[in-house]
Amino acid sequence: MSRIANFCAVCGSRLIQQQHSGRIRPFCQVCQQPTYFDPKVAVIIFALRDEKVLLIQRAVDPGAGKWALPAGFVDYDEAPEDAAIRETLEETGLQVAIRKLLAVFPKRDDGLADIAIAYRAEIIGGEAKAGDDAAAVGFFAADQLPPLVFFPSVTLVAQWRAGELPLQT
Ligand SMILES: [Zn+2]
Repeated sequence: MSRIANFCAVCGSRLIQQQHSGRIRPFCQVCQQPTYFDPKVAVIIFALRDEKVLLIQRAVDPGAGKWALPAGFVDYDEAPEDAAIRETLEETGLQVAIRKLLAVFPKRDDGLADIAIAYRAEIIGGEAKAGDDAAAVGFFAADQLPPLVFFPSVTLVAQWRAGELPLQT
């Protein structure tokens, strides 16, 4: 998705386009500051219970009706591990502890994140209940998976099915 900025977020002046740090960027001549479009960072949670993977059904597009690993955006001042714990609780009602960094994914499809950080988590409390942009929560065996969406979820679940996901710490 391309990014556009026409006005300065600080002073409201119209921005010009100017070369800064290696590329053309919006620039405020009043504040003397370029606008940097930073990547949207998401966290993804891979958690098992009784050898079944925790998935959420997407309530909204992109991917409405399909299933994915719990995920969400990192706030600008939030540690990614904290975001993973918060998002899992919001979407699934489950409390998790982060156990391991699994992978970092670049953007590959119409998922909303530019960079996605995936963790293995352990469920330590709560009761499964769909919330936020999840329509349903479920645990699925490797041979009974629903239709999945988004490159990181598809990739991680496929690796798990193949026994190739490094789950041990
Ligand atoms: Zn300005």
